[in-house]
Amino acid sequence: MNGTTEIRDLSALALGRLIKERKLSSPEATRVYLDAVREENGRFNAYISVCEEEALRRARAVQARIDGGELTDSPLAGVPTAVKDVICVRGMRTTAASKILENFEPPYDAHIVERMNEAGAVILGKLNCDEFAMGGSTETSYFGATRNPWDTKRVPGGSSGGSAAAVAARLVPYAIGSDTGGSIRQPCSFCNLTGIKPTYGSVSRYGLLAYASSLDQIGPMARDARDCAAALAVLSGGDARDSTSVMEAPFDFSGIEDERAGAPKGRPLAGLRVALPQNYFEVGIAEDVKTCIRAAADRLAALGAAVEETEIPLIEYAVPAYYIIACAEAGSNLSRYDGVKYGYRSQDASDMYEMFCKSRAEGFGAEVRRRIMLGSFVLSSGYFDAYYKKALRVRGLIKRSFDDAFRSYDVILSPVSPTVAYAIGQRISDPLAMYMADIYTVSLNLAGLPGIALPCGFGAEGLPVGMQLIGRAFSEATLFRAAFAWQSATDYHEKLPIGAF
Ligand code: GLN
Repeated sequence: MNGTTEIRDLSALALGRLIKERKLSSPEATRVYLDAVREENGRFNAYISVCEEEALRRARAVQARIDGGELTDSPLAGVPTAVKDVICVRGMRTTAASKILENFEPPYDAHIVERMNEAGAVILGKLNCDEFAMGGSTETSYFGATRNPWDTKRVPGGSSGGSAAAVAARLVPYAIGSDTGGSIRQPCSFCNLTGIKPTYGSVSRYGLLAYASSLDQIGPMARDARDCAAALAVLSGGDARDSTSVMEAPFDFSGIEDERAGAPKGRPLAGLRVALPQNYFEVGIAEDVKTCIRAAADRLAALGAAVEETEIPLIEYAVPAYYIIACAEAGSNLSRYDGVKYGYRSQDASDMYEMFCKSRAEGFGAEVRRRIMLGSFVLSSGYFDAYYKKALRVRGLIKRSFDDAFRSYDVILSPVSPTVAYAIGQRISDPLAMYMADIYTVSLNLAGLPGIALPCGFGAEGLPVGMQLIGRAFSEATLFRAAFAWQSATDYHEKLPIGAF
């Protein structure tokens, strides 16, 4: 194997195979990516921190384990990866893309980082995102906006935009993101990637800097569904330190390819019942996205799925309910950043109270402050019943409407985002417009359901469009079965951002 571009063209699993076959060592692969990041990250601002020495040290340690006969059934062993900067990695600065944590070095690893270390993953560094994962464009980062490799004047989506841009620009083979209301799926859609928001409770949140705890889930972002499945198998599993972590054993998707071999020829999706909710297309969706999703529905039908038009009510209430609940939880979670225990402390305060206020006012950016204020408002006495409690009831109704749909269907097909990637600066001063763009993603988090984003076409100006397959709780295998079939029959996911390299 030679040629650094060739190595960067490989999927994470293909790179893992080469390392296993001793055709390439983990330190060599790591070096290729570190060189690329040093040279090209400036164009995209995808990484906040790159930990060269530490990454090479880890790669050498993993290689020694591989040479010693360990990690034989760990397909991603030795393969470089990178982590959204809201996830704690011991010894690597973890900022949440905020001034308030600009110099925070966690003394511990997140559960998923422990799992990745055991599996032999090599973490190169930390990826840019919206501040505390609050946003949909990666423009609210204290470290500056990330740019979309498909068009560097456009946003990569968010909040895991650094993760998406890094994978799309081939600055890492796969990355880890977090999704509270769409932050894995929407940047995947904007950057032509595959990403899954797993079922709530399947991946431990221990070591994830909390935004909205009842909605947050960690998940993988990659070039295709097979890489995602391999990564999710590593991330998932039980953890006593997160009381909402409910899985006894990690996901095991290893049987899917064998099962697929037994499917009827040319109709790999035979037997899959797919809902296409008509009311999702009535709410301010762009024509190019609509066209791609409808074409995808026809293609799924051609692959054997039974696609049926239906209605899944209440989508118009998902965004208001989500923002009330997410802001309420954020206000509470972020109260810990007070300038006392860790993080930024204002230098010009004359007493303790002023120190709290100034540290928070100076340390948090505008969007985070807006959400803390909104969260405090909806939880305040007099408004609690009218807003927060009502939003919780709506959350229950949304969950019920999904339960009803899943009595007749196995998966729901929907857009990820109502538009393709838009220009940097275009929406940042209009928070309500930004919030409305989350319409297709937030309801899954409210209901705790898994959703996978898959490339399904190209819209205005050749920009990528993603579709979302939503499944029942813990039906990740069904989503991957459909995704593998989709990506065996289509080549959208193989298209590269022209001019990014
Ligand atoms: N855009 C949504 C928000 O701002 C989702 C963010 C996320 O999933 N972290 O809350």
